Amino acid sequence: MEHKIIKKDDKTWIIQEGDIRMFILAGDEKALLIDTGLSVENVRGIAESLTGLPVFLLNTHADRDHTGCNEQFDCFFMHPAETPNFERTGKKGVIVPVEEGDEIDLGNRKLRIIHIPGHTPGSIGVLDVNRRVLISGDPVQQNGAIFMFGEQRSMEDYVRGLEHLEGYIDEFDELWPSHGDLPVAPSVISEVRLGAEDVLAGKINGVPKEVHGSQITAYDIGVATLLCEQ
Ligand SMILES: [Zn+2]
Repeated sequence: MEHKIIKKDDKTWIIQEGDIRMFILAGDEKALLIDTGLSVENVRGIAESLTGLPVFLLNTHADRDHTGCNEQFDCFFMHPAETPNFERTGKKGVIVPVEEGDEIDLGNRKLRIIHIPGHTPGSIGVLDVNRRVLISGDPVQQNGAIFMFGEQRSMEDYVRGLEHLEGYIDEFDELWPSHGDLPVAPSVISEVRLGAEDVLAGKINGVPKEVHGSQITAYDIGVATLLCEQ
């Protein structure tokens, strides 16, 4: 798939591959690539040439549209709860575990990990502390479709994960999700959480749909669509 590179500032880039985003954050000493999309050839080389720095990889979670080119790295930061999901992709590589509260310093650029379980058990967001931006992966989207059907997903955990994230809204001014609109306002976290609660409470009528060969139910929660088990 075609991709394009969007420069956000002198040390920050977005790679857009269709509806999928990857992020490159550079500090003074090293750079971090967040996710590897589906099939961006030489995504590692792109990050190295843009930043001129050694590049490490972090995955927000193990879904295939986020780990497609992980084989370009021997190891990568990922939440350990993603191990079964990652193993199902059949890809190789060593998971370097990162969990809630862990910090990564790229050299005058501190990043902090926030655990947002539910979409997958080990979904994480990366808080770019001084820029006050949360790179949030899949759980929070505006005008996107949030996959909540299939193995390893839990609507109950998802609501709790979003509640946990709501505890951090004083620490960032915008979210940069992997799909849908960018940026997204922090208030959208609560909108999505309330929508998920309404779905669990049976307050929203779902529409049957086929997605990637699975029969699912789509719930329009206004700000986004939740794709759930039938
Ligand atoms: Zn995704």
